[in-house]
Amino acid sequence: MKSMSPTARFEDNPLQIALKQLAVAAEQINLEPGIHDKLKHCKKCVIVSFPVKTDDGGIKVFTGYRVQHNTDRGPAKGGIRYHPEVTLDLMKAMAMLMTWKCAVVGIPYGGAKGGVVCDPKAMSLGELERMTRRYTSEIIDIIGPERDIPAPDVATNPQVMAWMMDTYSMNKGHAVPGVVTGKPISIGGSAGRLEATGRGLAFIVRESAAKLNIPIQGARIAIQGFGNVGGGAAALLSAMGAKIVAISEIDGGIIDEKGLPVGRLLAFREKNGSVPEFEDSQRVDRDKILELDCDFLLPCALENAITGENAQAVSAKVIVEGANAPITPEAEAILASKGILVFPDILANAGGVVVSYLEWVQGLQELYWSEEEVNSELEKVMVRSFNEVYDLAQKEKVSMRLAAYTLGVGKVAEAIRVRGIYP
Ligand code: NAD
Repeated sequence: MKSMSPTARFEDNPLQIALKQLAVAAEQINLEPGIHDKLKHCKKCVIVSFPVKTDDGGIKVFTGYRVQHNTDRGPAKGGIRYHPEVTLDLMKAMAMLMTWKCAVVGIPYGGAKGGVVCDPKAMSLGELERMTRRYTSEIIDIIGPERDIPAPDVATNPQVMAWMMDTYSMNKGHAVPGVVTGKPISIGGSAGRLEATGRGLAFIVRESAAKLNIPIQGARIAIQGFGNVGGGAAALLSAMGAKIVAISEIDGGIIDEKGLPVGRLLAFREKNGSVPEFEDSQRVDRDKILELDCDFLLPCALENAITGENAQAVSAKVIVEGANAPITPEAEAILASKGILVFPDILANAGGVVVSYLEWVQGLQELYWSEEEVNSELEKVMVRSFNEVYDLAQKEKVSMRLAAYTLGVGKVAEAIRVRGIYP
């Protein structure tokens, strides 16, 4: 079976990986070299350095990025990440993934990503607000409801989106709710957006379980990362009857063969910031979670979680990617040789951007839908996209990742062909 994974070892640089994956998809669909070349490059990359007043009376200078990969299918769309390891290459790779993701699930957006190099855990709420507002001011000319619409990613949340929306609106002189998605509901956010990525991921787990004849009732699931994506997926999957047997966070892991009490863990995390100290569970080494013998492993933390170093030890039957780019190509080749099936990020974690799109549409028409309507629309899109990718993979005898890439890259290429190259 042809897959995305080359046998040669190469750097675990997310941009190099993204370019390699694009090259494999381009070859699969005989993409014209000119269009391939256009898609290798990001349309616009903005790097900003800006000062922020710290609580102790000092000044700290931060570096921020906003990268727009492609806008041929619609305005650029992508999250904002606050993390010490944000780099330009990472932003470019993540923007590229967003382009394919929006195309795979058929929503009219291109791809973008942004972030600030910072350690949000070491900052006060006031410092975070001042940093967010200044970062927004620095990128104000390239974002906007018709241009580029940020959303939450790692360590950003509805509050951060509210500060971005307010800063943009203050500068424009009127409220512009459509400049960001993932906002609080009180200022035009959508019901169901907070849980959407985890919910979409849970739908993909459910659909893949059905195809593979694994009963979802009692399915054993291990989750790396218990933030917005991992926590949301855990809640819905345990409501579906699955057993969440292990969870890890940056500071450790917990395990319970009988199934962890997800509701209590979410409440515990809300209060204490993370779950390893939860009293009613057994502690386990953080990275051992990835090696657990289980039905589904959901990497929902950061990129490069499963690499050539640890892939051999992975014992799950199926991996569904909640995080972006959690598996390196070298690791994917090893997983394929072990018969472990992988459902890729650009399909599996698309639930967030799908509901972001619904939020944007609701905002533009100033007509808001109930949570049931939003969830049901999300389910339709995720199930339809799952079936398209799954059927194509079966038909072409390729990995699920390559099927998703050929679908996504193919749709973007078609948009470029019909629009033509300006002038
Ligand atoms: P988050 O900040 O809410 O949570 C991240 C979680 O990962 C935390 O629980 C953290 O403790 C954990 N973590 C970090 N490093 C870890 C490690 N080495 N081992 C175990 N756990 C670790 O972030 P999020 O919004 O849930 O995003 C997680 C991933 O999902 C990212 O790759 C992000 O790009 C992707 N994603 C997020 C969304 C969204 O809507 N938030 C949408 C699509 C994709």
